[in-house]
Amino acid sequence: MIKIYNSFFLIDKLEKNSRLTADEYSFLIKNQNPNTSDYLFSKARKIRERYYNNDVYIRGLIEFSNYCKNDCLYCGIRRSNSNVQRYRLSEKDILSCCDEGYRLGFRTFVLQSGEDGYYTDDKIVSIIKEIKKCFPDCAVTLSIGEKTFEQYKAYFDSGADRYLLRHETADNEHYNRLHPQDLSAENRKQCLWNLKEIGYQVGTGFMVGSPFQTPENLAQDMLFLKELQPHMVGIGPFISHKDTPFAHMPSGTMEQTLFMIGLIRLTLPTALIPSTTALGTINPMGREKGILAGANVVMPNLSPLAVRKKYMLYDNKICTGDESAQCVVCMKKRMESIGCKVIVNKGDHVSFAK
Ligand code: SAH
Repeated sequence: MIKIYNSFFLIDKLEKNSRLTADEYSFLIKNQNPNTSDYLFSKARKIRERYYNNDVYIRGLIEFSNYCKNDCLYCGIRRSNSNVQRYRLSEKDILSCCDEGYRLGFRTFVLQSGEDGYYTDDKIVSIIKEIKKCFPDCAVTLSIGEKTFEQYKAYFDSGADRYLLRHETADNEHYNRLHPQDLSAENRKQCLWNLKEIGYQVGTGFMVGSPFQTPENLAQDMLFLKELQPHMVGIGPFISHKDTPFAHMPSGTMEQTLFMIGLIRLTLPTALIPSTTALGTINPMGREKGILAGANVVMPNLSPLAVRKKYMLYDNKICTGDESAQCVVCMKKRMESIGCKVIVNKGDHVSFAK
């Protein structure tokens, strides 16, 4: 049987019951155009406003190490990129980033790094405990890759609140084209289920326009989100990095990334969705447009200026030359320019908020 779909009808359907089939998602993605996008975004904004008004939550991102044992083909800090000047921040460095962040109004600190064995579980636990002791009204989010259930549990028990681990792509074959053989989509997804079971607020996500990605892959990503029910979903365009095997692959587009943000808002109405730095990198107004497509979080950089340029996941990453304070002022202005307001609080998911 041949099914005839209509994008506007499918968007209405998604708005009503937050659920579509893989074919329906694929159809929408293949037929995305300015009209379907506008229609989707107006619905996505309405849903965002229903749960979060025009509030935008800020997270202070601390990129504490760019050492990585993995060799993901897309990533600028992959192990085999010998052009990277590697760095590590000490616990003391990290705490002074938090100190500055706290003064600037951040109540969530996101600790992100490559998969760096130098930071043993004891070190990570000590960093978490110290941050929670100094800033008891703040949330700690980890984004340090794939670990065992026991490791995730130890971090959680020492006070970590949230964990970000993008699944990158839900399709096994596609996953294998983006990653070395020792990594698998299956293990990455299992990590996410473990994190949920332990009790974290969990964030996942994927790159839009990554090499070899098809609309069907993106549809599978949406079904995986629906199944996992993460609290947060971070997506951004793939952007090539000159020192990787994908140096000459075309980057993802802003239009498709925004469209996916809109679909995620309708699929997971209460999700926390960041408007990412990668989106701001491919277009100077990308982050504003992301919010207008349904996102409600921004993650300004709190890393020390001296290391910013060394955490280059992709070429031309923005905000690598600005002090944290400048980034916050700039972000507040950007959000106000679109009628939104940056909020000083932890910004928990509605199901966790007291
Ligand atoms: N080691 C951590 C953090 C990874 S960096 C982990 O494994 O989760 C955070 C995210 O940056 C990745 O999950 C990936 O989706 C994104 N990223 C990496 N390289 C990128 C590129 N070239 N373009 C766009 N996004 C990229």
